[in-house]
Amino acid sequence: MPQFKTSAIVIKTLDYGESDRIITLYTSDFGKIKGIAKGAKKSRRRFSNALELFTLSRLIFFDKRELGLVRIEGCDIVNTFPAIREDLRKIAFGCYLVELVDEMTAEREANPDLFNMLRIFLSLLSDGEAKSQILRVFEIRSLSLLGYRPELSRCLRCDEPLEHGGEARISIKKGGLLCERCSQGYIDLIPVSPGTAKILHVAMEMDLSKVGRLKFSRQALWEGEAILSKFIQYHINKELKSKKFLKDLGM
Ligand SMILES: [Zn+2]
Repeated sequence: MPQFKTSAIVIKTLDYGESDRIITLYTSDFGKIKGIAKGAKKSRRRFSNALELFTLSRLIFFDKRELGLVRIEGCDIVNTFPAIREDLRKIAFGCYLVELVDEMTAEREANPDLFNMLRIFLSLLSDGEAKSQILRVFEIRSLSLLGYRPELSRCLRCDEPLEHGGEARISIKKGGLLCERCSQGYIDLIPVSPGTAKILHVAMEMDLSKVGRLKFSRQALWEGEAILSKFIQYHINKELKSKKFLKDLGM
């Protein structure tokens, strides 16, 4: 049975039977994989807290290809992002990030950039404040990395840059902006202010190491939330469970 090693982040955990756990991981080399950790429920000592949500580790697994599950053999913890676990708001944010990755990805499709982004955002969340703009930046960059990059700088039909028009509208189905002139006759368009479209576009394009410095206006935060939720729902066909958790906390 072939054995593999990769960097992995726990994105979902489930108790299974009397003593096992089924863990979903997002890995740098294999994308999303699901694995069984034998005895992990009974003896926490074997895996320590390497199999807790958010934990980043060097994972060793056997690929049995039975029921699509790998067998988790061992994990060397790299970072548990401890500060996330001590703050309810941060837990809600973290749950949202990992659920988004889980729902937006298929198994065994490697996307090292997405893995890297998840690792960086868990770090940002653990070391800094839980600001809602973190979620907006993560959402737009995930859409982009997974091939659903919304067009937010120019009109999808006439190619005019947004700056030259007034208020624009977004078509979720078409995947981006339509200027006032080109949006005639379309239904289900969402109005968006040029400022919001611009900061979302910048958040998607800028160097990942600088996203912590971005400042969203209040309007960009609520407009961005409404627009990106609709884009995500359009692609995954449901509302994320952790979105409700965030709403219950007033976020
Ligand atoms: Zn146009």
